[in-house]
Amino acid sequence: MDTYLPEIFGSLVFNDKVMKERLSAEIYNALQQTIKEGTPLTIDIANAIASAMKDWALENGATHYTHWFQPMTGITAEKHDSFLDVNKQGEVIMKFGGKALIKGEPDASSFPSGGLRATFEARGYTAWDPSSYAFIKDGSLCIPTAFCSYGGEILDKKTPLLRSMEALNKQSLRILRLFGNTKTTKVNATVGAEQEYFLIDKKIGEKRLDIIHCGRTLFGAKPPKGQEMEDHYFGAIKPRVSTFMKELDDMLWRLGVLAKTKHNEAAPAQHELAPLFTTVNLATDQNQLTMELMKSIAQKHGMICMLHEKPFEAVNGSGKHNNWSLSTDNGINLLEPGETPYENAQFLLFLTAVIKAVDEYQDLLRLSAASAGNDHRLGANEAPPAIVSIFLGDELTDILEAVQHHATYKGKKKSTMQIGVSMLPSFPRDTTDRNRTSPLAFTGNKFEFRMLGSSFSIACTNYIMNVIVAEALSQFADVLENTDDFHKSLNELIAKTYKKHKRIIYNGNSYSQEWVDEAQRRGLSNLISTVDAVPHYTDEKNVKLLEKHGVLSKNEIYSRTEILLDIYSKTINIEALTMLDMAKKQVLPSVLAYERKLVEMALNKKRLDESIDRSVEIDLINRLSALAKNLYASIDKLESDTLSTSKGNSSLEIARFYREKVFFDMKALRDDCDKLENLVDKNDWPFPTYADLLYSIK
Ligand code: ADP
Ligand code: MG
Repeated sequence: MDTYLPEIFGSLVFNDKVMKERLSAEIYNALQQTIKEGTPLTIDIANAIASAMKDWALENGATHYTHWFQPMTGITAEKHDSFLDVNKQGEVIMKFGGKALIKGEPDASSFPSGGLRATFEARGYTAWDPSSYAFIKDGSLCIPTAFCSYGGEILDKKTPLLRSMEALNKQSLRILRLFGNTKTTKVNATVGAEQEYFLIDKKIGEKRLDIIHCGRTLFGAKPPKGQEMEDHYFGAIKPRVSTFMKELDDMLWRLGVLAKTKHNEAAPAQHELAPLFTTVNLATDQNQLTMELMKSIAQKHGMICMLHEKPFEAVNGSGKHNNWSLSTDNGINLLEPGETPYENAQFLLFLTAVIKAVDEYQDLLRLSAASAGNDHRLGANEAPPAIVSIFLGDELTDILEAVQHHATYKGKKKSTMQIGVSMLPSFPRDTTDRNRTSPLAFTGNKFEFRMLGSSFSIACTNYIMNVIVAEALSQFADVLENTDDFHKSLNELIAKTYKKHKRIIYNGNSYSQEWVDEAQRRGLSNLISTVDAVPHYTDEKNVKLLEKHGVLSKNEIYSRTEILLDIYSKTINIEALTMLDMAKKQVLPSVLAYERKLVEMALNKKRLDESIDRSVEIDLINRLSALAKNLYASIDKLESDTLSTSKGNSSLEIARFYREKVFFDMKALRDDCDKLENLVDKNDWPFPTYADLLYSIK
């Protein structure tokens, strides 16, 4: 892999450079128009593009093509066809036409549809998304596509994201025009998604059914050494991990992913990869690719890459930080304070739009990060909390306070400035003020959303961010387009909006109980679990918002709610069944076997000489018996709840049952097992312990 980076970067991507080289000017321009304006391609043009793509793919070693899409399962789906065909003369040829490029018809019945697709109608179709480049992965030309039911309702995560980008662009442009900007023709959300993950040895990990079936451990006593020494974070990377990281980077670069930073994370065996930011739809595709490659490359190196939010209890879980900002096509970051008061007024308006948006739609943002896996982080023992709030930092907060009170702002440099939007100070961007506990932190020129779980697609969070900000901007534009005194109205609008929504700003420690109490006093929502959060999808205000901006139809929102709840219940069901299997067939028999050894030992001692002390054996037998009895009862309880046939009549009732009953049964059973693990001889314990797993990579 001693390759020169710029040479390999994007070499497996059918990107703009390749298109320019391989398409005629006429075809290239037609495609650009489709990408920019959504004009449909004629079949002749599609044929020409398909043919160029095929030739390029064959030259680069591909034999197959696949429509690559992002169904509601959260992972990507693909069905491979080879280019192979036979012509009239019976000769083998390589063929790929425009029709196959534009539309595919996978059997949709195996993907979640939340009731949108009647079961007899198995067809669905995938439609090429020309705004995302095709690429070659593992010998297949992958064509990014949207996925719809035959009736046209969308069944994927990508389409609402593309629709939200339209909405955000439209409303942002309205604002920019008000500030006299006539040059910008497009505003995009930009995103950089920092990805956390764990690596463990495959041979050791595969000895545990929970890791195989659930991607996380369901049992495990605390290891003697966890992360308390803080010696892993940014520590030297072990050679085996480093080899993996190098191969991952190399592959990502070839696929045009801007992999930038890699380091060890806080927990043992935990690592992170951060890319450079890019346009949100590409960032979404690229994050999916990153997760997929992490898993497959780890396998190649005899390791398991765990992307679960909480693979190990009492050890830090894994999240995904979604850095989000707004950028114009001429490269201006709209969330960057500028040099002039005028730029800063515009900056403050966009900033207040985010504040208003997040306050009004806390529930949507919260549910975009809701899953059975992430419930172990948000609102549980680990942060960030389930309460959505914004960290702004002291300086910006002071400035907005001054705007609200039409007061004088005393800057850090002791300079005093009169705040009026038409004469805002040019304030310095302060990046030293880092707060790592906030769910949504303003970090100088972007917002960092920290609630996402490591295994999530970033699509949902971003279409929510895009649409809620688009809505706030549209309301702002409605006011500002109809005023005679722009500066006065702007000033008032920022002051009024800030005053109304500043309850969402919290600059303190979001992990503290103090904040939970304070947030309650402020009336912020605290949606502890997935079953508390997800039903808000269908709240009237949310349906109205998503429909208004054409992001999701009412039907699509209802189907998504069903799917999320259903996935939640299924996840816990699989975990419960796996737990039962392990507890009944592995833990209990091992405990009994160990007890038998102790009993034999005690009896042998007695037989040898009655006076030999047997108190340790007898005490251990007593303690083990008592714990085994609890374990036995916990197994029974979990089993009867999990197998109950009367969990509820709707997906919400069923999900609640899993949350309120099965989830707690699992906790109880785990508790019994972990206590037993601490008493049983390690050689008699049926699967690798936390210490074995967390330090499995030497
Ligand atoms: P850290 O948060 O670890 O201090 P940075 O602030 O440099 O690191 O960046 C974290 C992530 O934020 C990176 O993926 C980076 O590309 C991304 N990022 C930086 N600027 C922007 C932006 N304007 N829009 C979206 N993401 C951004
Ligand atoms: Mg960060």
